[in-house]
Amino acid sequence: MRVYLDNAASTPLDKEVFDAMTPYLLEFFGNPSSIHAHGREARAAIEKARRTVASLLNTSPSEIFFTSGGTEADNTAIGCSIRTLGLKHAITSRLEHHAVLHTLQVLEKAGEISLSYLRHDERGVLDLEHLEELLAKNPQTLVSVMHANNELGNLNDIEAIGSICKKYNAIFHSDTVQTMGHFRHDLQKLDANFIVGSAHKFHGPKGVGFLYADAGVKVQPLIHGGAQERNMRGGTENVAGIIGLAKALEIAYRDMEEQHRHIQNLKDRLKQKLQTQLAGISFNGLSAEADKSLYTVLSVSLPPSEITEMLLFNLDIHKISASGGSACASGANAGSHVLEAIGIDPERGNIRFSFSKYNTEEEVDYVAEKLGLLYKKVPA
Ligand code: PLP
Repeated sequence: MRVYLDNAASTPLDKEVFDAMTPYLLEFFGNPSSIHAHGREARAAIEKARRTVASLLNTSPSEIFFTSGGTEADNTAIGCSIRTLGLKHAITSRLEHHAVLHTLQVLEKAGEISLSYLRHDERGVLDLEHLEELLAKNPQTLVSVMHANNELGNLNDIEAIGSICKKYNAIFHSDTVQTMGHFRHDLQKLDANFIVGSAHKFHGPKGVGFLYADAGVKVQPLIHGGAQERNMRGGTENVAGIIGLAKALEIAYRDMEEQHRHIQNLKDRLKQKLQTQLAGISFNGLSAEADKSLYTVLSVSLPPSEITEMLLFNLDIHKISASGGSACASGANAGSHVLEAIGIDPERGNIRFSFSKYNTEEEVDYVAEKLGLLYKKVPA
């Protein structure tokens, strides 16, 4: 058995999505900017996909822009709002994905903004009173806070953060990559100027994502070139990718409640099995709390042992794919800035197990058994 529990890094492509994409690779291959029939077919499909995404998020198609993924969407929201609106200050947290953190740090280094970090506790819970304090002192601010943390699974209260931003007239961007397709987003209710999605996190293809940009906030493009994406992103569109993204989001919304139940059950099962088998185990952040974390992520902290350093490698030998840190460092066992920021003991082993609709109870039992055996071999 080979078990894939690294779905927060990337999910397998859904066959239904693949089937929706193939005609746009083989048959309708025209350039969507061309005026002939081949081009018009591709253009019509892109606009249909845009309407699908917009309707699922309860917003207007004119506010959806397709990108090459979550990273580009984050870069566009952050860089372009700061530059176009002349913002001089940004607030984020040290627990953000590098797509946000590094983007803001580059702008800080270039002297374009000053950057403040929200306080958080040892479980990664953000201090929203601190957010208010910072906003009261700094007008013209961009706030960038993710919806769910990709390593810990912590859910942040973006409704509350959005309301605070509105009260202080701040621009609010939320990296929603880990919740898109897993939770419902209603943009009529959420006070966010920018949110993002990445298809490969919800059984769509890699290399395609989108940015929701509030029509009230006019920003310049990140990528200059042709007039694609209504002048917001130059470059010939990834037609099949866009079709796949919309199809994957449609399926995710269609099956969401059922998948939520299925995946939550797998997470609870692994948590419970590990707790009974392994002395000294704990869970990072809010990962073990069902209503405060992603149902797709369980961040496990294992007692100090001689196998800590080789943990992911050992799992891989047992045909288990999981991650030790952020998606982008998957498998590399590179130090995690998130775990470091919440002060996790570096001697402990940390594994992020992340689930999808394709995982089974049998796989979870296999993983629990193998991990139990690995630790039993280690003298207490
Ligand atoms: N933001 C978060 C929270 C993520 O987990 C990821 C992917 O790991 C990204 C952004 C980057 O998305 P993409 O891989 O589409 O560039």
